[in-house]
Amino acid sequence: MAPTTDPFDFDGLLTPAQRDLRDRVREYMETEVKPRINDYWERGEVALPLALGLSELPIVGGTLRGYDCAELDNVSNGLVKYELCRVDGSVGTIFSSHSGLAMGAIGLLGSEEQKRRWLPAMASMERMGAFCMTEPQRGSDAAHIQTTARRDGAEYVLNGQKRWPGNGTIADLLIIWARDEAGHFGGFVLEDPAQFDGFTASPICGRIAKRAVHLAEISLWDVRVPAANRLAYCNSFSDLDTVFAQTRAGVAWEAVGLADGCYEIALQFACRREQFGRPIGAFQLIQAKLVEMAAGLSQAQLLVWRLAQLMEDGAATAGQISLAKQSCAATARRAAALAREILGARGLLLDNHVARLFTDAEATYTYEGTNEINLLIAGRELTGIGAFE
Ligand SMILES: Cc1cc2nc3c(=O)[nH]c(=O)nc-3n(C[C@H](O)[C@H](O)[C@H](O)COP(=O)(O)OP(=O)(O)OC[C@H]3O[C@@H](n4cnc5c(N)ncnc54)[C@H](O)[C@@H]3O)c2cc1C
Repeated sequence: MAPTTDPFDFDGLLTPAQRDLRDRVREYMETEVKPRINDYWERGEVALPLALGLSELPIVGGTLRGYDCAELDNVSNGLVKYELCRVDGSVGTIFSSHSGLAMGAIGLLGSEEQKRRWLPAMASMERMGAFCMTEPQRGSDAAHIQTTARRDGAEYVLNGQKRWPGNGTIADLLIIWARDEAGHFGGFVLEDPAQFDGFTASPICGRIAKRAVHLAEISLWDVRVPAANRLAYCNSFSDLDTVFAQTRAGVAWEAVGLADGCYEIALQFACRREQFGRPIGAFQLIQAKLVEMAAGLSQAQLLVWRLAQLMEDGAATAGQISLAKQSCAATARRAAALAREILGARGLLLDNHVARLFTDAEATYTYEGTNEINLLIAGRELTGIGAFE
């Protein structure tokens, strides 16, 4: 009997078009990314050439309509994130920071003119984007960011610091989130940032997870952007809910892809590796770990598939999205730990691909709302009682 990689026939839930897209992304990741990614990861170098190859697939811009975007349904959009992170989280984050966060902000909060101006070049990945919200002093408490945008004639003057944005050192368009003098929240598109004397961006070094994407440390000192670059439909933090609904659900899908990648590697290894004269997959304690991984994977697949149906109907709530992100990220983290364990010492080597996924799982657990923040959002919706501000 061949080892079972799809224990609850997840494949059977997909339409032929969704399956076809999934297979195309999988082929790219398996043939172009997997053989090359470890070298980038070890050097801590941005795997930009590998990510840019994704522009050949009809996936950039996700569910956004028009402006050369992919116009995917929610399951297909989720499958893209799944397939990227099944193989590598760094390429997943280069893509998601650009296509999900940056393009999503422009596509959902920009005016017609702004969308026409920026999205087509982003959809072809000629111009890359970054989404700069988090600050050194404001992580989970992003609603209280301290970066300021002072109006001066036909411009805004930006001052502040940003920390962690994916692609922050390489992007052509940075969306800087700041508060104006009236205290209103706004997204300001900073184009070709290197031209500004008051702008600096450097990679955050010494990191274990997602080493093949740059996360940036950014300073803005009297950086001027045209007033026309302020996203038209964002005046408060809650205006970002539509963007985060898409990107947070995307992280739930990426977590399931990561769990799948770990399960498949561990399963193949357990059936191949022999100790005490038998494949280690013949031992009950190893089988228990594989069953735990298969159960977590199957539950998570069904959860994100159902979430995508609700999103397709416009019926998904913030609590459901947070619950899915939190529980899928926890499943992925557990799957990565079990896979690492099943591979023994080999699980510590980049060669076997689990070590990289193991560290990626820690980032997935932390961004798009940490484990705790998503628990609190889901808990608030379940009980009707807010346990945090
Ligand atoms: C790989 C990666 C990519 C990222 N990409 C981006 C990006 O593109 N753009 C961007 O703006 N940011 C990005 N981030 C930043 C990310 O969004 C933040 O790391 C995240 O919001 C958490 O903030 P923090 O790390 O400052 O942790 P903190 O908010 O300081 O939290 C520290 C700990 O306290 C807990 N905590 C905080 N508040 C509460 C509470 N009320 N109750 C209980 N526990 C609480 C947290 O859960 C966490 O365990 C990225 C981060 C990573 C790792």
